[in-house]
Amino acid sequence: MSFPTDRARRLRRTAALRRLVEQTRLHPADFVLPLFVKEGLVEPRDVVSMPGVQQHSLDSLRTVAGEAVAAGVGGLIVFGIPEHKDATGTQADAEDGIVQQALRALKGDIGDETVLMADLCLCEYTDHGHCGPLTTDRSTVDNDVTLMRYASVARAQVEAGADVVAPSGMMDGQVGVIRDAIDAAGYADRAILAYASKYSSAFYGPFRDAAESAPSFGDRRTYQMNPANGDEALREVFADLDQGADAVMVKPAGAYLDVIARVSDLVDVPVAAYQVSGEYAMIEAAAAQGWIERERAITESVTSIKRAGAQTILTYWATELALSLR
Ligand SMILES: [Zn+2]
Repeated sequence: MSFPTDRARRLRRTAALRRLVEQTRLHPADFVLPLFVKEGLVEPRDVVSMPGVQQHSLDSLRTVAGEAVAAGVGGLIVFGIPEHKDATGTQADAEDGIVQQALRALKGDIGDETVLMADLCLCEYTDHGHCGPLTTDRSTVDNDVTLMRYASVARAQVEAGADVVAPSGMMDGQVGVIRDAIDAAGYADRAILAYASKYSSAFYGPFRDAAESAPSFGDRRTYQMNPANGDEALREVFADLDQGADAVMVKPAGAYLDVIARVSDLVDVPVAAYQVSGEYAMIEAAAAQGWIERERAITESVTSIKRAGAQTILTYWATELALSLR
C-alpha cells in the first residue's frame, strides 16, 4: 500500500491557506453595470423577468449610477428606450434622444470617477426591433445603410459624454466606420469596446423585456453568430482589431467560457464578457425557489468568467458584488 506524497489538500486545509493560493480574485473595478433609461418614465419600473433590475427615469438612473460609483464599479453602460420608434431608429442619434440626455447627466454627475459607456445599436430604437434599417424587401438588416446610422449614433454619443462606445449590432465593418466617424468629429481619444463575438443566444430573452427590443419578425441569426461556432469568434475579434477596436467583448459569458479563453489567449487588448440577462435570471429564479445558494452562485459564476480570461465583466450584479468586496 503506497500513500501519496503529493497532496493537493495541504493547501486547502485552512481558510488562510486557501486565500493565499487563490488564483482569481474579484475587484470592484472588474465590473460594468448595465443601466436602462426609458424616456417618459417618472418612476423606475421593475423588469419582471429580471428581479432586482429596473428601467429608469433620468432621475432614478442618476441615483443608481451614483450608488454604483460609490461602490467602486469599473464602469457603467447605458441603454436607452425612446418613446418614439421608427424604421431607422432616429431617436438613437437625436441630440435630445434619451441616451444622449442620460449620458450628459451622468457625465455631469460622475465626471471621470468611473468609465461611462454607451451601448451602440438601433434595436431599442427601431419599430421593427432589428439592429438596423431593413433591406427594401424587408427580409433582413441592410448592413451598409446601418453602418451610416451607427456612425451618426457614435458621434452623438461621444458628443454627449461617452468615454467608450460599444457597438453591439454585429454589422460587418462597424468598428472601422465608427472609428472614422468619431475621429473626424474630433474625438480620436474616445475608445471603442467592440461586441466582437456576439452570439445569437436564447439567454438574451429577459433583456428584451428590459430594453423593449424584441424583433417584431424573424430573429437575429443573419447577423449574430451561431452558438455552435468557436473559430468564427476569432475571425470576428481580429476583424474588429484590424478596424481599430480598443477592447473586445464576448457575449454571452457563462455558456461561452471556452470562447473567452481562446480570445484572451490570442489578443493583447483587454477582453470583456457580458453576463447576460438570462444568466442573471436563471440564478435569481433558482435562488428565489430556494434551489441554489444565491450569493455563492453569483460569485462563482462571475469568478469563472474572470478565470476564463475576461478582465472586465458586464453584470447586473455589479454594484452588489462591488459592495460585497469592500
Ligand atoms: Zn441591437
